[in-house]
Amino acid sequence: MNKVKDLTGRQFGRLTVIKQAGTDRQHRTIWQCTCACGNTTKVISNSLTSGATKSCGCLQREMAAKAGTLDITNQIFGNLKALESTNKRSHRKIIWKCLCLKCNQLIFVTASDLRNGHSTQCRACRAKSNIVDLTNQTFGNLKAIKPTNSRSGSNVMWECVCLKCGSVVLVRGSNLRNGNSTQCKSCRLKELQQITRSKAETALVTALKTLGYRLTTQLQLENRYFDIFLIDHQLLIESDGRYWHRTDEQKSNDEYKTKLAQKYGYQLLRVVNDNKSNDIQNAITKIQKTIKAYD
Ligand SMILES: [Zn+2]
Ligand SMILES: [Zn+2]
Ligand SMILES: [Zn+2]
Repeated sequence: MNKVKDLTGRQFGRLTVIKQAGTDRQHRTIWQCTCACGNTTKVISNSLTSGATKSCGCLQREMAAKAGTLDITNQIFGNLKALESTNKRSHRKIIWKCLCLKCNQLIFVTASDLRNGHSTQCRACRAKSNIVDLTNQTFGNLKAIKPTNSRSGSNVMWECVCLKCGSVVLVRGSNLRNGNSTQCKSCRLKELQQITRSKAETALVTALKTLGYRLTTQLQLENRYFDIFLIDHQLLIESDGRYWHRTDEQKSNDEYKTKLAQKYGYQLLRVVNDNKSNDIQNAITKIQKTIKAYD
């Protein structure tokens, strides 16, 4: 009987021989090996020494996957079920006939695109899932009408109507959903101006009170409101922002107010006030001059 050649500790490809593990029916020596991938496997001497076996099988699986020849029949990748391999190739990779489980369309993709997660649904389903449908939904003062073909990054631009002013604007779908956009730009600007205006007016009122003037705000004469009324001086004060373009409508409103003040026998003074550094001081100076001249 031949003495068994001891392979213990030797390396064959990915396999390291651990110990002898008996013989097979043909009395060939079997060796227990560990594979570099961590698996344990049993291999006969000749397979090791001839180079026929170099791994637990992981090497073949990797090569097959690389070549795209791995059998993936009936496996499911995302929404795609691999039905059968075809004779078609893409860059020498086998193209598989697949079923899109979302819409039941047949599509053709390579096994590697399935396995690496590139393809998880058919094109039509992918296009649909990229657009979150916001049609007819309202976000603040914006109502989404329809998605457009324009994109901002990967974001769909939606055609929206601003419910405040009726203008049609394009807004990022993501900005609608996260609450960043709730009105059109010009309405937003107006709102900011109004906030600035009311802050400016409050500052002027505070300054006048500090100086001891008795006053009321938003005094109504007929159908108009006046910003400030100095009770002891019968003086109406309108506090206007310099950045406001006076439209024809605003001009005629101003004229109307002037006449209304005259009708009631009050003096009307307009001061510029955007709550800028000197605005309040200039306004106070102007008010005091007017009062002096008047008294
Ligand atoms: Zn292995
Ligand atoms: Zn589909
Ligand atoms: Zn608007």
